[in-house]
Amino acid sequence: MKALADLHVHSDRSDGLNSPQELVEIAEQQELDGIALTDHDTLAGVREFMEAPISGNLQRVPGVEVGTNYLDHDVHLLGYFVPFGESAIELSLQTLRESRHARFPKMVKKLRDLGIAIDESEIQRVLREVTSPGRPHLARILIDSGVVSDIREAFTKYLASGKPAFVDREKIELIEAIGLLRESGAVPVLAHPLLIEDIDLKGFLRKLKSEGLEGVEVNYGYRKPELIDTIDDLRKMTEDLGLIVTGGSDSHGDEGHSELGSVGVPVETIDILRKVSERIRNR
Ligand SMILES: [Zn+2]
Ligand SMILES: [Zn+2]
Repeated sequence: MKALADLHVHSDRSDGLNSPQELVEIAEQQELDGIALTDHDTLAGVREFMEAPISGNLQRVPGVEVGTNYLDHDVHLLGYFVPFGESAIELSLQTLRESRHARFPKMVKKLRDLGIAIDESEIQRVLREVTSPGRPHLARILIDSGVVSDIREAFTKYLASGKPAFVDREKIELIEAIGLLRESGAVPVLAHPLLIEDIDLKGFLRKLKSEGLEGVEVNYGYRKPELIDTIDDLRKMTEDLGLIVTGGSDSHGDEGHSELGSVGVPVETIDILRKVSERIRNR
């Protein structure tokens, strides 16, 4: 098998189920050659992830996935080789996390107003233990209390945008986030672009490149056949623009997402990202 790196993985520091150390262990068991931790709006797991003991040659990339806004589109931006400590991006992530903490009880209230009983101690536990609480946490509580049978049902019935328990949260502007990642020495990469609805991708990518975007997550575990069919077009656009092709599973350790190691890119992509981050830092 070709040496593979999964560059999009979530831990329990955002809405994944496994700790950063467990992710490293699973990646080794899967004989992956590289893995990036990309929690939503938090770097809380990065140190544990980078310092977890390994027995082989697994290459690790400290990363993040920032939830951003672009002309009312919900756009996710990955940052690779993010520094652990204080940085421009960490400061704004702090504001985003505060907004997530404020949103969580609002969604709970909406669910209760719909007549759904939700265990307050579970809510308090999430708010206490999770630095970046989100809808998947709430979905799991709904599953555990027997309200829905899986994550997808929780989203389609209650939590997705436009559904009765949805609450929007504060987001950072995409272009600003690209700048903050670069200022912090991290490499900005557009996550799962085919999930952005109603956008002229070619023009969008060209615009983002001019704003400092370095790569595009081309390999991704899309489920809809019509999206899978356009991956090759996206790859061509990305290569034509001279942007780095990346990829990952977006694994959360649950059944609502692809499995760790099921999607990725050649491990050499990590060297390319590292070089770009060095170039950004030394500019
Ligand atoms: Zn995402
Ligand atoms: Zn993700």
